[in-house]
Amino acid sequence: MSEHDHHHHEHQHAHDEPELDADERADAEAEAIRHYALAQIRQYGDPALRLTAHEVTEFDDDLRRLVDRMIALMHDAQGVGLAATQVGVLRRVFVFEPDDQGPRAIVNPAVVSRGGEPETDEEGCLSLQGVRVPVERATELVLEGKDPNGDAVRHELAGYAARVAQHEFDHLDGVMIIDRTDDEHRREALATLRPRVSLR
Ligand SMILES: [Zn+2]
Repeated sequence: MSEHDHHHHEHQHAHDEPELDADERADAEAEAIRHYALAQIRQYGDPALRLTAHEVTEFDDDLRRLVDRMIALMHDAQGVGLAATQVGVLRRVFVFEPDDQGPRAIVNPAVVSRGGEPETDEEGCLSLQGVRVPVERATELVLEGKDPNGDAVRHELAGYAARVAQHEFDHLDGVMIIDRTDDEHRREALATLRPRVSLR
């Protein structure tokens, strides 16, 4: 209880709502926004997550709106990456923001090279809530594709950024972290995910 509470309790609390300070209120608001965003992201058990996305052929307003919406959802959900398949759109596009350089979008990405010493680290996924599993990834990655305007882009990524991009790239082929982890962690993850699926 904060000092603030003491002064108010005696005469002002006719209702039962807990009194929140500004930080707590901001946290509660961010949490509500996160939940709302997650509700718009396809969750484990949704068939769209297992489908292969198609090459984008039209670089139009529709595509740019999709990318804007995906970036907003990624932010609201407090994620670092989001693939179009996760919003039920089977187009080869993903957004990611592994660092403070701002969000990036890549359309029709192609892996030009994977390199470095592979590393295993825990990953979570906005479509697999409550799951974190170890996944081995290349530590260096070169991706080429287009930006949402159809201009060529090339991303030379290392470490965490390379990990995030490989995770999102996988989504475009219907591949998820539970497919990339070891048997023991897969079993644990499925045990976490199954009860939630049966409730839908
Ligand atoms: Zn994911």
